Amino acid sequence: MFDAREWKPSAFNLLLEGKDGQILFNSVTGHALWLDEGRRAAIDQCLTGLGGDATALPDLAEALAKLGFAVPAQADEYALEKARYLAHRDDPRRLYLTLAPTMQCNMKCSYCFQQNVEHSRAMTPAIAKGVVEFARRKAETAQGMVVQWFGGEPLMAWTTIQTMSAQLQAICAARGIGYYAEMLTNGLLMTPEIVAALPKMAVRALQISLDGAVTTYAERRRVPLDRAEAYYRFLMAHMPALIEGTGSVTIRINVDRQNITEAKDVVRMFKRHAILDPRLDFRLGFINTSRGIIDCIPHDCFSNSEFADEEDDFRRFLKDQGYMVYGMPQPVNHPCTATLSNGFTIDPQGRIGKCVPAVGTDQSVFARIHPDDIDRTLAEVESATIPYGDFDPFTSAGCAGCTLLPVCLGSCPKLHEAGQLLSCSMKEGLEDKMAFYGAFHHERATAP
Ligand code: SF4
Ligand code: SF4
Repeated sequence: MFDAREWKPSAFNLLLEGKDGQILFNSVTGHALWLDEGRRAAIDQCLTGLGGDATALPDLAEALAKLGFAVPAQADEYALEKARYLAHRDDPRRLYLTLAPTMQCNMKCSYCFQQNVEHSRAMTPAIAKGVVEFARRKAETAQGMVVQWFGGEPLMAWTTIQTMSAQLQAICAARGIGYYAEMLTNGLLMTPEIVAALPKMAVRALQISLDGAVTTYAERRRVPLDRAEAYYRFLMAHMPALIEGTGSVTIRINVDRQNITEAKDVVRMFKRHAILDPRLDFRLGFINTSRGIIDCIPHDCFSNSEFADEEDDFRRFLKDQGYMVYGMPQPVNHPCTATLSNGFTIDPQGRIGKCVPAVGTDQSVFARIHPDDIDRTLAEVESATIPYGDFDPFTSAGCAGCTLLPVCLGSCPKLHEAGQLLSCSMKEGLEDKMAFYGAFHHERATAP
């Protein structure tokens, strides 16, 4: 029997007004209810009755409690969520490595945030061996390893990646722990052999970036048009195998005010080639300087709110075209791997840092790989003051008390440093986003 006196509404409930209706969202469980007027009144009545002697709708109250919209009266939800965050942040059981085997790139993208990075560097065999040994030592206390292949353009160091993958997989197999990898690539160097090799290297997620029509791609990447055309043909021919082999392909279309309409052209191109797999995840990439790696990108960039509007429009377009639409806000364990005690970036020089886009620079670097002396590397890691190591969004001035903390966790720890301006992109367009996903998931669930 549901006893209203023992319950209260969750402090993490949000009532949102979107274009397509009202939504009650709980950011701890990620559950959302889409409300018409009748439902809204019943839920209001039910939640306001909690804590009192009785609620008029005990069955509904019980259902709301199961979904997290009501919680035990004694619960200190902020304390619980903060404890959950800290437990993940400090958990040594999963090792996250972002490895850049080269900072070289085969392109010169006009919006590249690595334009000030020294691109000539590729990882030497000695450093690569040291990285693998570092991973082996750190894996001794881990129960799983996740590697993100990053760069520069990682496919420029394909041989190094193959060698290191085999060694890292062997370490995990010997210890009986899980291993998988992800890769961010511009894709241009992909070959049928690479497509076939990715599953063997346990690459489970691939992100490929595009810019729109092939002419725009050629112009922005500064590659000859015939090369760009050949690449687009390759991508269409091999996309089904890439999705099948990895299980997840994200197409990130980098946009500003000039090329935004071409994002839809990319989707249309996939559709013309009958590539409609639900494991395909189209995203708009926001060209801007918010991560603070460089001061200016010479593009006509959107503001945060303009970009949120474009995302809303793009989501609706994807749905109309019959594609899966990813990106509904859900609870997360960490804002980014930079905050994790066992999350490390390693660049071709063996510099160990924290922030992924800052790889190849000195930003966030706190130790280095000493190929002949990994004990020394481990001692440096143990004794260093680790950047973002004590990041706690629950006490950070910009985010403390925010109802969205469980799905955002402060976004980017860099933006919480003294002198930085916290730009809160999570709240931008949230109502429209949630209203969209409400209608989208409802339609999918009720489709014949
Ligand atoms: S610190 Fe910020 S920029 Fe760096 S990886 Fe985390 S979210 Fe990204
Ligand atoms: S960045 Fe914004 S949405 Fe995220 S926790 Fe902070 S205030 Fe909330």
